Amino acid sequence: MKKKISIAIDGPSAAGKSTIAKMVAKKENFIYIDTGAMYRSVAFYCIKNHIDLNDEQAVEQSISNIQIRLTADNKVYLNDEDVSLQIRTDEVSLGASCVSKYQAVRTFLVDEQRKMAETGNVILDGRDIGTVVLPHADLKIYLTASSRTRAERRCKELVEKGVNCDIDTVEKDIIDRDYRDMHREISPLTQAEDAVLVDSSNMSIDEVVKEIIKLKNE
Ligand code: C5P
Repeated sequence: MKKKISIAIDGPSAAGKSTIAKMVAKKENFIYIDTGAMYRSVAFYCIKNHIDLNDEQAVEQSISNIQIRLTADNKVYLNDEDVSLQIRTDEVSLGASCVSKYQAVRTFLVDEQRKMAETGNVILDGRDIGTVVLPHADLKIYLTASSRTRAERRCKELVEKGVNCDIDTVEKDIIDRDYRDMHREISPLTQAEDAVLVDSSNMSIDEVVKEIIKLKNE
């Protein structure tokens, strides 16, 4: 049987991980697993059911009611409801970074992610893929860019969608979320020792995709 290949992409918020991972997956015929969407789904479930995100026990108890499914066309289903768009709000972004610090949430989702990763050639993006979820991944990338560049890209996306955007506020949100993700006790965001650092501040999306495919082929 042919060996399955796994690629891990970690890095701070808004570094373009999911855009890049999706493109690599499409070009190389890999399964893309958006682990951030899973943390977002847990936060969304809690918000929708009026569960206080700061109440660790209450969040923990809700896990047994949560089923998350990611489809091949990159849709996210929470208990059979398509929540792909609803999990992308700022409120859910903040909520995800709150529930992601709880051990029970991480154990539940990491377990699911490992099961999904066994199904074929996979590319996962997140914060702890190379360090915790798949420590033996064939290729590990730590994708980053300056906080200003990331804020500029996020604002451009928002403006294109017709949403007003204040770049300083967006940058502050990004920096705050990075700080929380890097300083939490369990599985903080950190570059795995054997990960290749890719700083995309001065690179186009296509250049990053090419670089990752080149590294994979090596
Ligand atoms: O990648 P995305 O911005 O969708 O992730 C949302 C939040 O989920 C992150 O800020 C982080 O707190 C959490 N997360 C995590 N581990 C992952 C993926 C996401 O803790 N593997």
